[in-house]
Amino acid sequence: MILLAWQPSDSQKILEAMLQRLPQTHKEYAYARERLGRVKAGLAGEQRVDAEWLELDLPAPHYFLHDFQTRNDFGSTHQMDTIFLCPHFLLILEIKNITGILSYDASYAQLTRTTIEGTVEGMVDPFLQLERHVAWMKKLLQRERFHLPIVHAVVLATRNGILTKGFEGQPIFHVTGLRSCIQRWTEMYQPVKAEALLPFATRLLSMHTRLKKEMTVPFKEMMKGVVCPHCGNGQRLQYHYRKWTCPRCGLVDHNALNRTLEDYRLLVGPQLTNRSFREFFAIESPNLAYKLLQQLPLKAEGEKKHRKYWIID
Ligand SMILES: [Zn+2]
Repeated sequence: MILLAWQPSDSQKILEAMLQRLPQTHKEYAYARERLGRVKAGLAGEQRVDAEWLELDLPAPHYFLHDFQTRNDFGSTHQMDTIFLCPHFLLILEIKNITGILSYDASYAQLTRTTIEGTVEGMVDPFLQLERHVAWMKKLLQRERFHLPIVHAVVLATRNGILTKGFEGQPIFHVTGLRSCIQRWTEMYQPVKAEALLPFATRLLSMHTRLKKEMTVPFKEMMKGVVCPHCGNGQRLQYHYRKWTCPRCGLVDHNALNRTLEDYRLLVGPQLTNRSFREFFAIESPNLAYKLLQQLPLKAEGEKKHRKYWIID
């Protein structure tokens, strides 16, 4: 049973909207592009591991908490990709979707990947991260007076991540190895009473809080206007005779207003005024802005100058 599902995250959409509206020379552009790559790889990895779980014969009852996030007593944060609970054990799983040749040096707490092109990159030590989570979970189990063995592992979601030296004895395997590990742990640990599991899983769920904040760029640094989805690079559409048209590629975009409103929601927030609308959509005339605002799925509040609009979900 899935107690906490993967949340459809806005991260990918925010970064995509941002990349459309950041000049390529902006200091955050390269970072946003790299971050988008990581978010996409992360999603693909989660899907690959989910597909594997479905293939497995799992001990009953069992509970999943995906993308569990919480803050500990000291104020620092924990983010665990998957927590799996069954009467035999509790598994904390870290999902990695990293391609290339991977090696590890425990004494330096250093994971290194060499890409196919030969670039060498250092990465965060996933085992240290996991040990932190395990220590936190142990404390919680003690506090709740519940006994359940904790196991942990890093699962590689892609065949194109090649594990080489330094991983001996480390809890890491390719996603297809999940089956034999679950089997081994099930045989290794005696089950606790099945009915004791759900109260603890529920307690865990109650501690979940959303921590992730996506990067933000100040409003004034973004390119404004209703931009052409084909041309990119901030090419603006022009509004003539109730149509949005691209002067460069000739596109007539019937969805231009709604799409730009979605960009606004992702990058600025759910509230607009006539002025913020004009600024973001690059429209000079308050009258035209008023007319266009009436065409959008918005809820209006207040009169005249003080009127505010809310984007309806
Ligand atoms: Zn165009």
